[in-house]
Amino acid sequence: MTDTPLFEHAVVVGIGLIGSSMAHAMRERGLARKITGCDADDAVRARAQEIGIVDAVSADIKKAAKGADLIIIATPVQAAADMIRDIAGASDPGTLIVDVGSVKGAFAGKARALQTHAHIVPCHPVAGTEQSGPDSGFASLFENRWCIVTPLERDAPGYRAAIDKAIALWKAVGAQVEVMDAGHHDIALAITSHLPHLLAFTLVGAADDLETVTQSEIIKYSAGGFRDFTRIAASDPTMWRDVFLTNKDAVLEVLGRFTEELAVLQRAIRWADADTLEDVFSRGRNIRRAIIQSGQETDAPNFGRDKENR
Ligand code: NAP
Repeated sequence: MTDTPLFEHAVVVGIGLIGSSMAHAMRERGLARKITGCDADDAVRARAQEIGIVDAVSADIKKAAKGADLIIIATPVQAAADMIRDIAGASDPGTLIVDVGSVKGAFAGKARALQTHAHIVPCHPVAGTEQSGPDSGFASLFENRWCIVTPLERDAPGYRAAIDKAIALWKAVGAQVEVMDAGHHDIALAITSHLPHLLAFTLVGAADDLETVTQSEIIKYSAGGFRDFTRIAASDPTMWRDVFLTNKDAVLEVLGRFTEELAVLQRAIRWADADTLEDVFSRGRNIRRAIIQSGQETDAPNFGRDKENR
């Protein structure tokens, strides 16, 4: 730890994938003198202590918030929106409160309406895996990933400095930071994250319902593409329930666009329109290349799976 860590006492509320990864990363980089983990589940609190990512644990968020200079809310989106009033009310003036939710409008809406001397800076680290729980976290999760910061429209004294401190936190755990408004975030993420998850859930569910293809065939031939959708479809159901409940308008907008594109392909297949098919598929390949060039994906074949796991 450096002599003057960024924070004296950080509280992580919700010790799942993102919460435990933040605790790991802050610990590894010496970003907080003390870390307290808050979780309602006795077993999760005990496990967080066993792994050694927290100095203390608490089931009482309001008590834990007292004396903290950083609070990271890492619960599903609806729970974060529900608890922000209590957390802000219990916090000391000047405490930085960040959330990590995948939808920003709902949380920002609740936070904006609060009278508080704490500084709430909504954030979304665009980094994750399909795992959940305290054992799934790791310190390098945020490295070279983007974190989107969506500040509230506040001109309270100290708020600008709090935004800078939140940005410094994300950079210190290895992320690159982009600042935008919550509405823009929600539409951008609807296309890049929420729609892909919806499609994966739908595809895996549809395969499960297909009576002409047996369950054993679905598993046996899954390397044809299906298994890559199952990774996304294995994500936490509560987290994704909340994403679709709180980002309804943006998801319905991009779903409408997607349905139109699907109809174009359906027509091209029906009428053997080879040019349209090739054109659409080429755009897909180009986007994949751009993602690899930007460093957000490996260019190793088959997502870098080793030979044994192909
Ligand atoms: P996770 O591994 O399932 O962890 C969620 C944590 O929140 C658990 O500790 C859980 O407590 C707690 N929790 C759940 N419901 C709660 C409630 N009603 N009140 C209080 N605590 C509650 O989930 P995660 O993947 O870390 O996701 C956390 C947040 O990060 C979500 O808002 C999600 O949108 C966002 N996010 C996720 C990803 C990703 O890829 N997974 C990426 C970026 C952002 P228990 O232990 O008691 O169940």
